[in-house]
Amino acid sequence: MIVARSRAELNTALDGAPRPIGVVPTMGALHEGHLALIRRARAENATALVTIFVNPTQFLPHEDFSRYPRPIERDLALCEQSAVDIVFTPPVEEMYPPGFATTVVVQGPSRRWEGEHRPGHFNGVATVVARLLNLTRADRAYFGEKDYQQLQVVRRLVADLALPVDIVSCETVRDPDGLALSSRNVYLSEEQREQALALSRALRTAAGLAEAGERDIPTLEAAMREVVERAGLEIDYLVVVDPETLEPLQRLEGAARALGAVRLGTVRLIDNLPIPPPRPTVPSPTLESPTRVSS
Ligand code: AMP
Repeated sequence: MIVARSRAELNTALDGAPRPIGVVPTMGALHEGHLALIRRARAENATALVTIFVNPTQFLPHEDFSRYPRPIERDLALCEQSAVDIVFTPPVEEMYPPGFATTVVVQGPSRRWEGEHRPGHFNGVATVVARLLNLTRADRAYFGEKDYQQLQVVRRLVADLALPVDIVSCETVRDPDGLALSSRNVYLSEEQREQALALSRALRTAAGLAEAGERDIPTLEAAMREVVERAGLEIDYLVVVDPETLEPLQRLEGAARALGAVRLGTVRLIDNLPIPPPRPTVPSPTLESPTRVSS
């Protein structure tokens, strides 16, 4: 495994690398969620490349950039065990060299939810993802559904800028009790971890109600809020939205997505779940009505 810390080292590693190149962008502190993406990239590509970069521009000033976990030796060992070919782990100056003056702004799917609660966050994400995809010469890039809105923003970015890369998404990996794996879960005390389970429970409640035939979105959202508030979590948003545009919905007509962000003290968690489309109502067998003959 080659560990590249500069663009020059990365280019040297890539010059001999067979295609297709599958890239997994991460901020490190790798867990089973990341490893699922890495395994898939490994299986589907001739070269598997992981980037580890805690991107300062996607953190707001009051957020956890400086305390974000950075267990780099452990991360490199996990990549090695997963048969990764190249790890690109640049310092900030390699990603944002002097004179860097570009921000990529994706509108549409970045407008609401995380975009409202973390203004500027998706500009940082879109800018660093565009640069990483170019630097790594990615043929395919792997993203988790865990960050569902980010996934839609990246899809929009790649489509709008015609970047020559396929975006592959992978399902959220969870602990057996339902908590979505996240590098930020290490911030949770045991008690907070228990409370945090209410988020995934609320999303499952909405999916269950939809499955049982409920089509009224405000009813689904109220049911989710009740679960989360009972556990004492503060809600940033808890909504059922269009799965591509992420715009709010009033009535379930097709597939949708439940999205939520909650706070426990200083820790903020996000999660989401697919909401199944309503099952077509089977017409009950009726007696054929007599044919009217008009005279
Ligand atoms: P991060 O290191 O948090 O920036 O995440 C890097 C990539 O891993 C992103 O595409 C995330 O969506 C994905 N990821 C993070 N947690 C999970 C999870 N629990 N299941 C699947 N993918 C995940």
